[in-house]
Amino acid sequence: MSRARLDAAVAGGGVVGGACALALARAGLEVALGEPRPAPRWSAETPDLRVYALAPDGAGLLDRLGVWPQVRAARAQPYRRMRVWDAAGGGELTFDAGALGRGELGWIVENDLLVERLRAALPAAGVRVHCPARVEAMEEDAAGVRLRLDDGTRLDARVAVAADGAASDLRRLAGIGVDAHDYAQRGIVAFVDGERPHEDTAWQRFLPSGPLAFLPFAGGHSSIVWTLPDDEAARVLALDDAAFAVALTDAFAARLGRVRPLSPRVAFPLRRQLARQQAAGRVLVLGDAAHVVHPLAGQGVNLGLRDVAALLAEVEAARARRADWSAPHRLARWARTRRSDNALAAHAFEGINRLFSSPVPAAVLARGPLLGLAGRLPPLQRALWRHAAGV
Ligand SMILES: Cc1cc2nc3c(=O)[nH]c(=O)nc-3n(C[C@H](O)[C@H](O)[C@H](O)COP(=O)(O)OP(=O)(O)OC[C@H]3O[C@@H](n4cnc5c(N)ncnc54)[C@H](O)[C@@H]3O)c2cc1C
Repeated sequence: MSRARLDAAVAGGGVVGGACALALARAGLEVALGEPRPAPRWSAETPDLRVYALAPDGAGLLDRLGVWPQVRAARAQPYRRMRVWDAAGGGELTFDAGALGRGELGWIVENDLLVERLRAALPAAGVRVHCPARVEAMEEDAAGVRLRLDDGTRLDARVAVAADGAASDLRRLAGIGVDAHDYAQRGIVAFVDGERPHEDTAWQRFLPSGPLAFLPFAGGHSSIVWTLPDDEAARVLALDDAAFAVALTDAFAARLGRVRPLSPRVAFPLRRQLARQQAAGRVLVLGDAAHVVHPLAGQGVNLGLRDVAALLAEVEAARARRADWSAPHRLARWARTRRSDNALAAHAFEGINRLFSSPVPAAVLARGPLLGLAGRLPPLQRALWRHAAGV
């Protein structure tokens, strides 16, 4: 049997792997992390196109880890309202931070900034970072897991964490399959300016082709996520800036007036992908390695941070009772709870995407009243928001 020298070996130093390694180290565990790519260098002048709508519970976790004050000081744009409406069915749903008794609903934050600050915090917390190094092999026995990295390092740990993204090598090495569904859609992201201020509001218009979100960004700019069928997305990507501005202004019903592009456009393929289990033996699967969801609710990274927070809670509860945090029943309980939350979220976002893209008259007729009803019932509104915000 291999001797477990580390408590946890984490594959992947993205937001979720970085947060997980830091959380476990801060809880007093011996942790190592392997990541093939050097930490990004965030720069205020060239914002990262991949931005997240970070929910309050995710920000709370980063705060506990000591990273949030630095991220906020660098750049985190609060959003105080959300307005969601349907192009075909009418009806509008509004969430307002003030009405919910909060200063903000969440923050728009760049991926590179989060990853840079998380990675910078790891060595001081005692995490041994192996970079560039990719997990390429795994052996497991009852006592632990041995990971082999492609720089020749071997990591013996009680538990291995697969946070190595949607195409996770460690998940595959652990023999965990996925259920995947290609939406045949792409999410186009870009920074733009409108003629009118964004009002610290996250806007989303549902169109038959897919949702279009305008997220408020620093400097009065907006970050868009425009979901389109693959062929439409290819056409929109090929437009020159002037034609793109016209198409986007039109798709957004000129809610912020005429739109002006500020950055290149990048498109991401969209799909639902769920790992069939979030644990197999002593391998745990977190973040996009476990779940890829439609971006319409802006929940992808938030679900991953909830995986981390739930694992941290298990570790802390076990250690408070001087029990073994890595006991199989605890790992299995964490995996069951997280798998069911994540699967529910993935299917809910898919249902919303389907309902709001459907040309079927009954669906069109149902959408407006549905949004209107949710907008008119404060308790329902509050319950929806609390669920999305993780509070
Ligand atoms: C268009 C679009 C918009 C989105 N908008 C939002 C949003 O508004 N809000 C939100 O919450 N989410 C959003 N998401 C989702 C979000 O991008 C992901 O959920 C998030 O990046 C997942 O983080 P992660 O750390 O799990 O994985 P990743 O960011 O993919 O990180 C995985 C890491 O593992 C490393 N790695 C890969 N292979 C190995 C290996 N063999 N060994 C070791 N390391 C390895 C990689 O180099 C990488 O650094 C969006 C996604 C898309 C496509």
